[in-house]
Amino acid sequence: MDLERIRMEAETEIQNASDIQVLEETRIKYLGKKGIITSALKSIGELPKEERPAAGVKINAVKVVIEESLNHRLKELEEKELEERLKKEYIDITVPGRKPELGHLHPLTIVREEITEIFLGLGFSIAEGPEIEYDYYNFEALNIPRDHPARDIQDTFYINDNIVLRTHTSPVQVRTMERQKPPIRVIVPGRVYRSDNIDATHSPVFHQIEGLVVDRNVTMGDLKGVLSLFAKQLFGEDTKTKFRPHYFPFTEPSAEMDVTCMACKGRGCRVCGGTGWIEILGSGMVHPKVLSMSGIDPQEYSGFAFGMGLDRIAMLKYGIDDLRLFFENDIRFIRQF
Ligand SMILES: [Zn+2]
Repeated sequence: MDLERIRMEAETEIQNASDIQVLEETRIKYLGKKGIITSALKSIGELPKEERPAAGVKINAVKVVIEESLNHRLKELEEKELEERLKKEYIDITVPGRKPELGHLHPLTIVREEITEIFLGLGFSIAEGPEIEYDYYNFEALNIPRDHPARDIQDTFYINDNIVLRTHTSPVQVRTMERQKPPIRVIVPGRVYRSDNIDATHSPVFHQIEGLVVDRNVTMGDLKGVLSLFAKQLFGEDTKTKFRPHYFPFTEPSAEMDVTCMACKGRGCRVCGGTGWIEILGSGMVHPKVLSMSGIDPQEYSGFAFGMGLDRIAMLKYGIDDLRLFFENDIRFIRQF
């Protein structure tokens, strides 16, 4: 048996082992149960007695050398594998983080929430109703009879003779009065529809918020007090209000409310047409007919109602001059508020 040749071959194989798996196979080949060295040690017994000790020493010496080489190579391979893993799993902590894109509230949502907050603070609660509405709730119960010009096919989207896309949030007033006994204090935010073309100041869909108060002894003084307070909270403490007589079928008397122009503080400018005033809402004492149609006795109760266009208020508040911007959802526009 050429021990020297076996040692050299083993060392070459160990050095060439490219990974730990191959190295382990090499170990088994030489030092395993049936390995070359193990077999050599076993075969010592077949030698003449006097040759055994010397053979044992020689074979064991080769075994030790191979073991050392195996251990040395194993360390090398372990280091190499660790290095490769570290390289693969390397995290560059200097790379700037990925910023999650956060959404942004739409200016109409911001204004709706602001207005809602003010009225919630005054003890109102929020009421909602369907956008596809019965003709009865949208018109009839609000004292707008069949032949009223507001019901013109030009102005209203009819689903059929009895069902329309609501043209205002006012049907929710009727639905609330039918459902709830006074005292009633609700505000109604929502989408409404008119058969309009879209341009800088018109859109077939827009947004309203309106309010209704019904209780004993409610007067025009309550209406003016609540709405003046609201205007100051929304547009600033120094905001003045002015009520002009107006006509609505569902209120009597009716008034439009003007506030100090927020662009010029009342001095007169292009926004307010030089008057210093801006009209922002319609209001009035609930018509006795509307109360009684909803099952509330107008001898016992009275109430006031008001309504405003959210889109218009947002335009005034933020100085936006084109209604269409609200519906385009251009993130560059929405981000500004
Ligand atoms: Zn002005």
